[in-house]
Amino acid sequence: MAKKQFKAESKRLLDLMINSIYTHREIFLREIISNASDAIDKLSYLSLTDDKVGMNRDDFRILVKLDKDARTVTVSDNGIGMDRDSMEENLGVIAHSGSFKFKSEMDKGENEDIDIIGQFGVGFYSAFMVSDKVTVISRAYGAQQAYMWESTGADGYTVTECEKDAVGTDVIMHIKPDTEEERYSDFLETWRVKDLIKKYSDYVRFPIRMDVEHTEYVETDEEDEHGHKKTEPVTRTEEETVNSMVPIWQRSKTEATDEKCVEFYKERFHDQDDPVAVIRVNAEGLTSYRALLFIPAKAPYDFYSRDYKPGLALYSSGVLIMESCADLLPECFRFVRGVVDSPDLSLNISREILQHDRQLKIIAGNLENKVKSELLKLMTDAPDKYDTFWAAFGRQIKYGLVGEYGMKRDLLKDLLKFYSSNEEKLTSLKDYVSRMPESQKYIYYAAADSLRTAAGLPQNEQVKARGYEILYLIEDIDEFAVQMLYNYEGKELRSVSAGDLGLESEEEKKEQEETAEKARDLLDFMKETLKDDVADVKLSNSLVSSAVCMSYEGEITLEMERYFRQMPGEAGEKIKARRVLELNPSHPVFASLTAAYEQDKDKAAKIALVLCAQAKLLAGLPVEDLSAYSEAVCALI
Ligand code: ADP
Repeated sequence: MAKKQFKAESKRLLDLMINSIYTHREIFLREIISNASDAIDKLSYLSLTDDKVGMNRDDFRILVKLDKDARTVTVSDNGIGMDRDSMEENLGVIAHSGSFKFKSEMDKGENEDIDIIGQFGVGFYSAFMVSDKVTVISRAYGAQQAYMWESTGADGYTVTECEKDAVGTDVIMHIKPDTEEERYSDFLETWRVKDLIKKYSDYVRFPIRMDVEHTEYVETDEEDEHGHKKTEPVTRTEEETVNSMVPIWQRSKTEATDEKCVEFYKERFHDQDDPVAVIRVNAEGLTSYRALLFIPAKAPYDFYSRDYKPGLALYSSGVLIMESCADLLPECFRFVRGVVDSPDLSLNISREILQHDRQLKIIAGNLENKVKSELLKLMTDAPDKYDTFWAAFGRQIKYGLVGEYGMKRDLLKDLLKFYSSNEEKLTSLKDYVSRMPESQKYIYYAAADSLRTAAGLPQNEQVKARGYEILYLIEDIDEFAVQMLYNYEGKELRSVSAGDLGLESEEEKKEQEETAEKARDLLDFMKETLKDDVADVKLSNSLVSSAVCMSYEGEITLEMERYFRQMPGEAGEKIKARRVLELNPSHPVFASLTAAYEQDKDKAAKIALVLCAQAKLLAGLPVEDLSAYSEAVCALI
């Protein structure tokens, strides 16, 4: 019988499949099983309206048979089947299958990454990744005659008449001989095939049955030296259903309790700790999908590294499309774990198409809002749990706020929490604002590298003296986040180290200006003396009991300078805050300084040096020239 040739495009794809060095060969089984499941779907749908089908839903099943001697894997279904024409049409070309999309992707030439086969449906042809011959025996619903399609790959295929008792399809894959790189024989092992079914097809809605061997030890008549009956292994083979069919996220809340979901989470995502939140979504409408999401309590060890793989598992009606689909979550919520299942997504979908998929975008948008609202709920209903979450992922939220040019500002601003002068616990901006007295213009914050330094900053004094609360920002990312926020509920955020704290009345300001004018010469002298250390010297209006403090002017804050200093390379050297040394005019030290300036300029210069060093230390900045500092201190003593 003459062999028919595959259409040209199919040929190229086949070549790719057969010859590629390819690590995800195992997905062939998923593809063949989901074809079987589709075929059953079609017949089962028909049976709803057509009594002649004579089948109940319970009658449908997929059988997987392994034959080590013949080296075959057979997948049989009792679905709709194929006649000669549909065999020619469906198995001879790839026009409408996922394989086609895959091929167009490859043709674009930019994506020579063969790895993508593993993630998306490529259909029937994937059988050739593990087989050197594929035989399909099928009898279509309503037909008496069965047909056999057979191909050894690139050289074409044959279709002949054959016998088959019942309606349905058997796909017989003749497994390739082992090579040095690949042990194809593994696909003939029950444990391996069972694992594959569990991994990829666990939630196919029809039972996938296969022979599984069970070994039991039974007693024999013989006795051992202790007089115990000897046992011997007896292996029996039983056909069993391997897949669980209904995934936990498809079950109702009464059936899939929170405890069960938590159990599922721990097993599926390899986490020992309970998540802080379980989120269920059941969306119906234009895009229907179900999602079961989890917020972990701890960051995985590699979370803040490149190795961490964010994303949700993506299913289409119970068939795994992608283990971690990153497009389903915004970067700022990359810690969320879980699954999304939508019947509206086609199994045969390529990564590129997936990225632009409208359904997927809608789902991702909904999930983003859902995660946010669940986190807000956690914040009010279970603050302890929220704080656990915050300790693990707060940094990520702040990165999210700073990233993407602040695009996620509105999404994330309510999730922020900081320590504050008000209480020992963390506080949200919302709570802070609710406590603000009428007279308070700004939201104040003090940034430093530890809670102690932040709380001890001299410039907190005036703010506290007026009864205003101060947020303590102690992570390096904090100030960037706060600056990206700029304001919250119309209240601008202000660093206590920034020049103008908006505390004084007009009168007070005028008075300060007059004092400053009188001290003009002294301040200029200080500025000249300390010109290597500070950009300016001013009289302070934020100090009460301290003599000095260090503040800054301009965009770069002292904390940012510290942050950049830790970074390797030139940036760390170059990025410097414009430091301002502030003097408290009502402090006795200021009087001594003024006296020294009038009588002994040399002494005044030493006092300047010591005060500047003190301000640096209080701000957590290093004092570079320690010997000059200690000399000055000794001389003054
Ligand atoms: P896709 O499933 O994306 O259409 P495939 O290459 O996997 O692409 O399959 C091509 C077509 O072959 C299917 O659409 C279906 O019509 C037919 N087919 C494959 N397997 C079976 C089967 N077990 N029973 C009936 N038809 C099948």
